[in-house]
Amino acid sequence: MPRFLEARQMVLDRVGRLPTCEVALEEALGGAVARDLHAPDPVPPFTNSAMDGFALRAVDLDGASADAPVRLPVAGELAAGQIAIEPVRAGSALRIMTGAPMPMGADAVVPIEWTRCEADWVEVARPVRAGSNIRLAGEDIPRGGLVVAAGASLGPGEIGVLAATGFARVPVVLAARVAIITTGDELVDCGAEPGPGQIRDANLPALGAQISTFGATPVPFARIPDQRARVEAAIRDALTTADMVLTTGGVSVGDWDFVKPVLEDLGAEPIFWRVDQKPGGPLGFWMLEGKPIFGIPGNPVAAMVMVEEYVRPALRKMMGFRHLHRPECAALLDAPWRKSSPDGRVHFLRAIQREEGGIRKVSLTGPQGSGILSSMLRANALALIPEDQTAIEGGGTVQLHLTGLPEDR
Ligand code: AMP
Ligand code: MG
Repeated sequence: MPRFLEARQMVLDRVGRLPTCEVALEEALGGAVARDLHAPDPVPPFTNSAMDGFALRAVDLDGASADAPVRLPVAGELAAGQIAIEPVRAGSALRIMTGAPMPMGADAVVPIEWTRCEADWVEVARPVRAGSNIRLAGEDIPRGGLVVAAGASLGPGEIGVLAATGFARVPVVLAARVAIITTGDELVDCGAEPGPGQIRDANLPALGAQISTFGATPVPFARIPDQRARVEAAIRDALTTADMVLTTGGVSVGDWDFVKPVLEDLGAEPIFWRVDQKPGGPLGFWMLEGKPIFGIPGNPVAAMVMVEEYVRPALRKMMGFRHLHRPECAALLDAPWRKSSPDGRVHFLRAIQREEGGIRKVSLTGPQGSGILSSMLRANALALIPEDQTAIEGGGTVQLHLTGLPEDR
């Protein structure tokens, strides 16, 4: 039975990057860029004024002061989007707006707030340095400069810079389609009134939400009763449309647990089944037709933790992201905690972390039983208690996976 990190690595070793495609920039948000993108054009594309004011030659204001302001004739006006026809001559100024191209001859812009002016003259009571209030062509991004590196995720900042440098379309790795098959005779739709012995299916909505927040596309399947033929048909069906298949429930050793035997019948390659961990011990992972299949335990806490710890990094690799893992840090646990028995398993505790006076602190969300679904509420971290550790004192250090933060750092 592998341990958590070994099992996760076995998953990452088996999944590969999905194909890439070109999409319109507006559709690229959240995707991973498929290759390094270099700026075809510089930003800014031309040298321009950083202020509303007056373009002039700095030397003309040498010696200007409150007692001896310098008055210059104003030769005209230049708005953003216009081009100066004539150069600015020595001893004169041109009214200029932010973003207008610097006219020939001028080497500085004096902001309007420094001046007194009328339509045809301007008075300045202090000197200005050459180059002041001018944005040089390419000072932000030079032509050919690296804008976004392969594997970076495209956020609003990247989209803005790509737009400015001339990318109307960008190569991104396709979003994975993830089939979600929930199994269990006891399950009913969350909109239905459960009958005797029935419970509402929490996994289909919860896992679908997780997959969506990962930037992948959930493909929800109808709930499947614990019947071998139905489980098999659903997995076959899922393989025709999805890049990855998740099943929940029925993966343990109960008499009605059909996921494992069905996958064996289908000839899936077993990578592992069961991991030394809690929650999520009965997790299984198979490859079939080149596609990863996770058999996830039905317990909703276990299911969501497994999706976070295994499925998310696997999807990030498939979807071309460079960073696969959440940021980690150490934190001080504010109350003691102990395992009910020394079970030799890593425990993933649902936790809320925060910073207090420069110290990272963490509290558990409440009782941590695998059946306590409310322990997921407000959690922004998972605390990992190593296999060989049985207890933590109040004020003791735990290692956190910061599930509320993105992998890109
Ligand atoms: P299983 O992995 O099928 O043995 O299920 C373990 C526990 O999780 C049982 O108590 C199930 O009733 C429960 N469970 C399984 N699937 C779901 C689901 N989709 N939503 C809520 N609870 C579930
Ligand atoms: Mg079941």
